[in-house]
This record gives sequence, structure tokens and C-alpha cells, in this order.
Amino acid sequence: MIDPQTVTSNLAEVRDEIARAARDNERDPADVALIAVSKTIPAEGIVPAIAAGQRRFGENYVQEARAKWPALRAQHPDVELHLIGPLQSNKAREAVELFDVIHTLDRPSLAAALAKEIARASRHPTLLVQVNTGEEPQKGGVAPGAVDAFLADCAGTHGLMVSGLMCIPPPEDPPSAHFGLLAAIARRHALPILSMGMSADYPAAIQAGATHVRVGSAIFGARQPKA
Ligand SMILES: *Cc1c(COP(=O)(O)O)cnc(C)c1O
Repeated sequence: MIDPQTVTSNLAEVRDEIARAARDNERDPADVALIAVSKTIPAEGIVPAIAAGQRRFGENYVQEARAKWPALRAQHPDVELHLIGPLQSNKAREAVELFDVIHTLDRPSLAAALAKEIARASRHPTLLVQVNTGEEPQKGGVAPGAVDAFLADCAGTHGLMVSGLMCIPPPEDPPSAHFGLLAAIARRHALPILSMGMSADYPAAIQAGATHVRVGSAIFGARQPKA
């Protein structure tokens, strides 16, 4: 059971912490967008966050988002939905229809599938390239050394506009070096969006220049294990 009051007070704390981290680094708190990561959280846990003014939400699975969000969005059309989990090419059509921002573009076959569905739907979600800054074999994302070529391929071969980068540092590493690397690659390509920082490390990400932090458990509590 999720207690609505806990969600409301957690959300207020995270907002305060974001504002503090921004000011500590001489940044405007308005330049750091909070994405509330609501994966595994049922609608009754999400409603109190919407009531408290939260409008950006992140989901990991197309299927789960499709089940949960159309009803909520019918009531709150200004909600912005972010796909932050891995995307299979055969789900590209649904992802383009459902999401406003896709954070996990990371391979040519997915770029091709997204380009096709974007043309078909005449709807272009904001696209971010996921970078595997820790070069972990089990994790999605483009290796740091391959990002330049991949961005060129997205634009040149697929006609896709990419607006930024996203990373998930290896849990055992101090995150700051990964955030710094992502920021440097984005700067080199003049990409405005940097999606980095989760519950455990979003202040460090803000220090490194994050424009979007993805915070789940600090707002909604520990996730329910999957049945
Ligand atoms: C689950 C998830 C988050 C949120 O993680 P918390 O530690 O609960 O804040 C952020 N980003 C991605 C990609 C995730 O999968």
C-alpha cells in the first residue's frame, strides 16, 4: 500500500533538495526538471504526485505505461511521459504514440525503427541517446567512443533529431566521473539535455550539469518486487 501523504511529503523533500543542489552550484533550480519514476507504482500512488503539481513521469516498460497512463492522462492532458527503460524495436510504434521523451535510443536498428514510426505517426518525441559510460556488457547504451559516429548516423542516415544524452552509472562506482563524461560529450555536440541522476545521486548529477533527474524510490518508496 502506498500512503498518499508519504508521496506528497517525499516529493516536497526531493523538490527542496533539487533546488538546494542547483543553488549550491549557482544554477537556476528551474533549469533542473524532475522526472518522477513511477515504474511498478499503481495509479493510486501516482495520483497524489499529480495533485501536488508533478507533471513529468518516467516509466521503464511500454506495456506497463500503456496500461496505466491513458486513463490518468485523459484527466491530466499536460502530463509528460518519459520512457527510461530499454526499448525493443518491435515496440517502437507504441513508444512513439505514447511517450513524449525517449531516453534510451542506443543502436542503429532502433534508430531505423523509430525513424519509420515517427514518419508514419507525424509525431516526433524528444530523443536522447543512452551512453554506457561504464562500458558494462549487460547494460544498454552506446559506448562513449562510439557516440560521435552514432549521432552522425542518427542524423545522416535516419534523419532523426537527437536532443541530449542519458546515462546510468555502474552502481559500484562513484557517479561523478560518469556524469562528467556524459556532460563533456553533450557539450562537444551542443546537445541541450542531460538526463542523469537517480534517488541515490541526483545532487551530484545536478552539480555536473543534469537538466533532467530521474527519481523513483525517494518519492514513491521502495519498489514492490515483481510478482
Ligand atoms: C528505476 C530507474 C530510475 C529511478 O531509480 P531510483 O533509484 O528509484 O530513483 C531512474 N532511471 C532509470 C533508468 C531507472 O530504471
